This record gives sequence, C-alpha cells and structure tokens, in this order.
Amino acid sequence: MLNSPEVHPLYMLDKYERTPIMSNYLAIVAVGEYETAQSERDPRHELHFRPGKRAQASFALDLVVNSVNFFEAYYEIPFALPKLGHIAIENFGGAMENYGLITYDENVLLVDPNDPNAAELKAEILLYVAHEIGHQWTGNLVTTNWWDTIWLNEGITEYLTYYSGQTIDPESDWESVLAIMVMNRAIAMDADPQGKNLALVVPVEVPADFDDVFQFTRIYEKGACVTRMLANLLTHTTFRNGMRRYLETHGGGNVIESYLWDAMEAAAVADGTLPGFGSIAGIMHPWTNQPGVPIVTITRDYQTNYAVFSQKRFMSVVNNDHDLDEKWPIFVSFQLGGRGVETQVSTLFLDQGEVQVDLFLGAGTNNSEAWLLANSKREGYYIVNYDTVNWIRLLGQLISDPSVIDPINRAQILSDLTILCAVDIADSQVCAMVPAYLVSESHPIPWIAAAQLLPIWRGSKLMTMDQFDSFLPPMLELALDNLKNQTITPLATDLSNVVLQQLNAMTMSKSPSSGKNKVGNDKIKQSMNILTAWLGHMRRYHQQKNKNVQFLGSLTLQDELIRQATVNCAERGLLLLRVRDELKMTLAAYQTLFESSCAFGIRKTLQVPQVAREGREELERRVESLEEEKLKLLEECDRLRGQLENAQRLHEEQRAVEADSHKEKIEFYQHKVQQIKNQLEAILAAKK
Ligand SMILES: [Zn+2]
Repeated sequence: MLNSPEVHPLYMLDKYERTPIMSNYLAIVAVGEYETAQSERDPRHELHFRPGKRAQASFALDLVVNSVNFFEAYYEIPFALPKLGHIAIENFGGAMENYGLITYDENVLLVDPNDPNAAELKAEILLYVAHEIGHQWTGNLVTTNWWDTIWLNEGITEYLTYYSGQTIDPESDWESVLAIMVMNRAIAMDADPQGKNLALVVPVEVPADFDDVFQFTRIYEKGACVTRMLANLLTHTTFRNGMRRYLETHGGGNVIESYLWDAMEAAAVADGTLPGFGSIAGIMHPWTNQPGVPIVTITRDYQTNYAVFSQKRFMSVVNNDHDLDEKWPIFVSFQLGGRGVETQVSTLFLDQGEVQVDLFLGAGTNNSEAWLLANSKREGYYIVNYDTVNWIRLLGQLISDPSVIDPINRAQILSDLTILCAVDIADSQVCAMVPAYLVSESHPIPWIAAAQLLPIWRGSKLMTMDQFDSFLPPMLELALDNLKNQTITPLATDLSNVVLQQLNAMTMSKSPSSGKNKVGNDKIKQSMNILTAWLGHMRRYHQQKNKNVQFLGSLTLQDELIRQATVNCAERGLLLLRVRDELKMTLAAYQTLFESSCAFGIRKTLQVPQVAREGREELERRVESLEEEKLKLLEECDRLRGQLENAQRLHEEQRAVEADSHKEKIEFYQHKVQQIKNQLEAILAAKK
C-alpha cells in the first residue's frame, strides 16, 4: 500500500502500487483489528497480530528476516516485492504463502517465551515460516502451470524448508529429520494401503480430483525426498545453480516439469556433474510420474564375494490393480564395514533387471565377514532389503557397537527393517534383535525413527496389541533415559521428546502405573524385564514356527549361550556380549602378533645367507668387469699417445716448410722495395 490520505471524515482512500505478474490464488485482502510490529533489522518485514500479542511476535520477527536472507543469498535473487507481511490469524489452520502477505495460524507464528514447550513450538514455527517464505520464490515467482504438477511448488519448497532450517539453525539436525521421519511418512503413503495408486503428478480435471492431490500429503513429503535425491545426485552446488537458472529463466511465468529438468541438465553440464545414464529428465520422470516406491534387494554370495542388486515396487498389501513391473532408474550407494573393514561409498546404476557386483572390485574388500550397507544417509528414495545373514551382521554391529555406523544410517537401518518386518518381507528373527539394539542407542535420531515406526508392530505378527502396550512404555522410558544425559542438538531433542511424549500419552492411558515423571531405576528394571519377556516370547514363537531353525541361526554356540543368558537377565547378557567381544579382540590381536612375528622370523632366517651369497658374487662380478674396463682404458691410452706423437711430428714438418717459404717471400719483397726505391731516386734526380 502506498498511503492512506483522509479524503472524507467518514472514508479513507487507499492507493496501491502496481502488482507484479502473479497467480490469482496468491492474492489476499485481510481486514481486521491488528497491531503491527516492524523489523528494525529489515524494515521490509511486518508482523500483524491481535492486540496484546506483541511479546509473542519477537521470535518470528527475527526468524522471518533470517529466512528471507537465506533464500535471497541462496538464489541470488532478491525478494520481488518492496515489503513482506506476516499475519497471525486466530483459528486459521496452517499457513498460506500469499504474495507479500503470508497468513498463519496464530499457533504457528506466535510463541510465548515463557511457555514450557517454547523450544518445540519454535521448531514448528521455523518449519512453517521457512516453507511459506520459500514459496515466495518457488510457487510465487514461478508457479506450476496446472495443479497436476503442484509438487513443483510444494516438494521443492519443502526440501528447501529443511535445508534452510539446517543453515539458519546450524545446531539442528533437520537433514536427518527429513531423511528419516519425512521419508518414512512418504514411504507409508507410497506403500499404498488404500490402493489409490497415485504418483507425484496427479491428473486434475474436475474439482474432486483435488482430494487426490491434497488429501494425502505425498506432494510435500515425497516431493521433498525426490528433490533431495536429485540434489544429492547432482551435488547440492549444481542443484542450487539449476534452481537459479530455473527461476531466472521462468521468473514471473508458469512452469512444467521439463523446465526444471532442463535447468538442472544445463547446470550439470556447466558444472561437469552430469551423472550419466541418460538425461536428467529421463532419470527423474519415473520418480515423479510412476506411483510407488522401489525396494532394492541385495543378496550376497558369501563364497564368491559377489552381490546381486535387484528392484521391485514396494507394496504394503498385494494389489492386482497395480503394475508391479515398473522400474526406477536408481543410483544405489553402498559400502562395507565391520571389524577392520571400512570401505568408501560406491555407487552403481540399477535400472531394468539385476546387477551383479564383485564386492572386491566394487568396494575394495574381499573380507566376506563384513556387513554391507546401502543407501548411505538415505540419500535415495528407496527401501533396502538384504539377505538374512547381512541383516544379522548389521544388527550384530548395532548391538555390539552402534557408534561404528553413522546415527542417520542407524535410523535408516531401523526404519527399513521395521517397515519390511511389518509387511513380513524381512525375517522376523532379525526384527527380534531390534530391542536389544535400542538398549544401547543413545542418539535421538534412531529413537525418533523407533518412536515413529515401532507402533506399526502393534497387532502385527510380531506382537499382539497387549504385548505391544506392555512393551512400548518401558522402551520409551529407556529412550528418555538414554537421551537424558546427551548433549545433542536442541531441536532434535525437543522433537524426539514431542514424539515420545505423544506416544507415552497414547500408551500410558492403558497402563497408568508407569507415569512418565517417575523414570528411575525401577522403571529401567521394569522395562528390561518386559524386554526380556518379549525376547522370550519371540524365541518360543520361532521354536514353534520351525523347530529345526536355530534361533538367530547363523550365530555361534557362544552367541546362543549369551543370548540365553540375556533372556534370563539382560544386563548379564550385555556384559557377556562385551566380554565376548573383548576376548575376541584380544585373541585376534595375539593371533595377528604371533603370525606376523613367525613370518618375520622365517623371512629373516632365509634372508641373511642369501643376501651374503648374493652380495659376494655380485662384488666378484663387479671386480672382473672393472679389471676388463681398466685394460680397455690402458689400450685406449696408448693409442691416443701414438696419435699425439704423429700429430706433433707432422706439425713440426709443416712449420719448417712454412718458415722457409715465408723467408723467401720476405727476401723477395725486400728486393722489390729496393728496386722501387732506386727507380724513385733516379726519377727525382732527373727532374732536378
Ligand atoms: Zn506449501
């Protein structure tokens, strides 16, 4: 608005600046009794709120400046309008990115600094503010040309919401929250329990089709995951350059998917980061236009050290209406690890059919004892399944020493495994190891994954509802206890607490005796007892299922004994586990020492006489050759001396001849001079 001069005692005249080209769904007029706070740091920003809420606006007033600063620096494109308002409306529900005046529900913009949950509320406000401000570029500056590709607005914005959150608050761990929590929600939708069979791009022809677009939040969650996968594939720098091209080329206009792919392709060509295996459009089209999420299955041959990678669509229920032959172009990253093994992350391209990899050539190790972990940091949008032996190795690593594996990868293993167990794809023996791992987990991100996903076990083949209800509360208290003494990112802690408290509240109502505030030794003991009982239940379940299958079949007798001790007393089991590992390590160290000292001794014994014999022969040969050389040189010397004498003699003779002829010439010239002198004197005398 330009100004509001009073033209009449009863009326005001408002004059507005010319509106830039924009989509009509972004226009807004807000009328009401609001107070305004203007940012001192950046006067472009104004917050509007109901009277009396000024103190609650200070956090957001600071945040909106940081957020706009982030996007202006990120795109190197300034915000297009001279000012940006943020209005907090009571009972608005969510937020809307109107161009120049963003509307928010009061709860996602204002926060009372004295609220005991202020930290969690601030985290939520950050996500809303960053998302709506991000839209001022992706959504408002460029807009999808039709609702079917609305993910271009929402998915890209959602990805950059988390990315900017990590930059604005470097202490936070939004990247992990996106990779784990958001992706788990996207996978849950794409597993398609309702049989909707929807892709990111949804045909929209009649108003009812909007339900399919917005009823499920796929466009946000899956859109963000697919965008993140693209950014990781191209490197984030190239992704940013591609976004700049996209916005610069199409600013003020409408876009279709191919505009984004073309901008990314051009940026990747300029940066030299094209991944190969076809154009960006060719690689990305199936991810946005095919329904579903792929599951990559890796089966290792432990004799040949080969691994076979294959893919198919992941479904929570078999649905014959769905096309299960669809394939995605997947860049599968993988690495090997374990005691004494740590390889770099390798990547292979999986499209149609299977890919077989020699792990020695592909990952640089021939250690068949190593575990294999794929989709590092969960950068790709796919689930990973392994053969049972590899799963047990991964879980064994997590139980004995989780710190070897990055927290985000631990959360990924937990997420993929829990999802696969819930639909009976992974071996339930492996799932039974999860609680034993969680006992030693002290990082919030895997616990967030656990709190989010373990409830899907409730009423599954793994646990009856009653078993689950008695199992979860103590596990959650264990989580709170494990997380309590950690100095970890405040936002992640707050988030995990939110999730845990919610789940606690959900399950507490069924077992009121275990109140959250009474976490203590007896609670931990209680949780251990229930965990132990549950493990016992799992063992009986498997014994009934197949008497010939030894529980956790591929582990050794020692492991089985330890496992039985764990069933009776979990603490003792863990202690035995540590003792066993310590013993194994000591044994291995002595073995290596013994082997290498033997080898050294043998080498030395063989080396000494051989060196002496070889050395003497060598020296004798050298003396001989030097003698020969000396003779040759003496001969050469004589020859050269003869040549010298000859040359001197020749030179003397030549000099004598030359001296004679020189003398004759002098005499001749002297005679001539005398003659001329005589003639001259005769002439002079005649003239007189
Ligand atoms: Zn949005």
